[in-house]
Amino acid sequence: MHELSITQSILNIALNCAKKEDAKHINSINLVIGEMTGYIPHYIQEYFDIVSKDTIAEGARLIFRKTPAAARCKECGHDTQLKDYKFICENCSSQNLTIISGKEFSVETIDIE
Ligand SMILES: [Zn+2]
Repeated sequence: MHELSITQSILNIALNCAKKEDAKHINSINLVIGEMTGYIPHYIQEYFDIVSKDTIAEGARLIFRKTPAAARCKECGHDTQLKDYKFICENCSSQNLTIISGKEFSVETIDIE
């Protein structure tokens, strides 16, 4: 259920943006969503349809760009795509890694009219 609060903040950001631009309607919202956030786009869209009712964002489509989970090895400097949440360097097998991608969540752009 943690999608509900994040959906509310997406709506607030979009509405604020639209207000500044004097928009009549929000057509779509482009979002960046990290693979490691665990958010499910389908639920976010469903919640969005509910919370955006009677606002200028009603009926807006959410477009998700997923970023893969990736980490940099502190031992050898190699960047590894993390698969199945295995936290290990594919180059040297070290587990001494820093997350460099996959935890982000943001509103990238909005399409208004
Ligand atoms: Zn390594």
